[in-house]
Amino acid sequence: IKNVGVYTSGGDSPGMNAAIRAVVRTALYHNLEVTGIRRGYEGMITGDLFPMDRKSVANIIQRGGTILKTARSEQFKTAEGRKMAYDNLKKHKIDALVGIGGDGTFTGAKVFGKEYDIPVVGLPGTIDNDLIGTDFTIGYDTAINTVIDAVDKIRDTAESHDRLFIVEVMGRDSGLIALRTGIAVGAEAILIPETKTDLNALYHKLEQGRRDKSSKIVIVAEGEEAGGAFEIGRLIKDRFPNYDTRVSVLGHIQRGGRPSCQDRVLASRVGVAAIEGLLEGHRNEMVGIINGEVAFTPFENAIKHFIEINPNFLKIVDILSL
Ligand code: ATP
Repeated sequence: IKNVGVYTSGGDSPGMNAAIRAVVRTALYHNLEVTGIRRGYEGMITGDLFPMDRKSVANIIQRGGTILKTARSEQFKTAEGRKMAYDNLKKHKIDALVGIGGDGTFTGAKVFGKEYDIPVVGLPGTIDNDLIGTDFTIGYDTAINTVIDAVDKIRDTAESHDRLFIVEVMGRDSGLIALRTGIAVGAEAILIPETKTDLNALYHKLEQGRRDKSSKIVIVAEGEEAGGAFEIGRLIKDRFPNYDTRVSVLGHIQRGGRPSCQDRVLASRVGVAAIEGLLEGHRNEMVGIINGEVAFTPFENAIKHFIEINPNFLKIVDILSL
């Protein structure tokens, strides 16, 4: 390997910059050249590539977003698009890739790695934590801390006005943000895509819960099957017209901001491991950290969609919200 291309793709997450920095500096440490690819697969296809040095990743470890920009590329899903990408990589003499992103990014990398003889290693960059092969993904810790900061503020106003708040957090397919933050903010209930929403149980809970509680918070993941926070809010207003019920959707604040210490360290560790893994012959794998140790997982296993939810987490909410 002589020249490694690095890109971020799919949804952005805090800590992607720390990962880029680690990849670039480790590659240079091992006397490899590094090429930055802007806007993920889109930039590979259009040829938006540039050489990177130590200086190009200075002063970014603390910054949210991604200096390489990110995009979703429909063209990369076609064989012609991938051929254009490959030709550009060849033109720039890139002979290995590090891709930072989520399951879509790895699906693309897997397909590409089968078609062309170019080793690809992936880093888990998503706020959703929905990949197998790492205990945590880069960005998840920052995102859940952003959520609890926001919900603590909502709690102040809920408490002052004796209100019930339905708060929607990100997670179209995964309730992992909702699950952890729900425990951390002392939520009454957590509704997630992985479990069937039992509205009667929710009503019962809100009704039978301690009457002297002045505020209540229900955390709803975006992909919850009854229709998300606005729908749940509407149903609760119908059922309990005397409750002062409000809905708050946290939205994109969850993706931004300075990465937490945990995300910076995780990104740095897997960034170093990605380059060293490539040099040792790893390919078509994601690098994660499992039980404190670096671990490589083939893309097809990392992106298996069903992540088991720890039922104890839901039980904890039931016990602690009494
Ligand atoms: P997040 O989960 O944070 O949104 P992601 O990496 O899953 O991030 P996607 O938009 O799903 O984000 O995927 C990123 C890109 O990966 C897509 O825009 C596309 O270019 C590429 N990709 C996804 N699936 C495939 C596929 N089946 N074949 C080729 N490329 C794909």
